Amino acid sequence: MSEDTYCLIDATKPPTAEGPPYADCVLCREPTEYPESYKGITLCPVCEWREAERTSCSG
Ligand SMILES: [Zn+2]
Repeated sequence: MSEDTYCLIDATKPPTAEGPPYADCVLCREPTEYPESYKGITLCPVCEWREAERTSCSG
């Protein structure tokens, strides 16, 4: 367990899809790793990383 892992919001992380169709990223409309049936905010790896950077603990 690293500090990076601790800072991630794993509790709200949706399950990853095993295959297409994937849900679109709510920010950039790129395909995400999440199933299209997932109800909630889905972010592509890039946006997810940015959001994690922005929302993660900063100290
Ligand atoms: Zn995105």
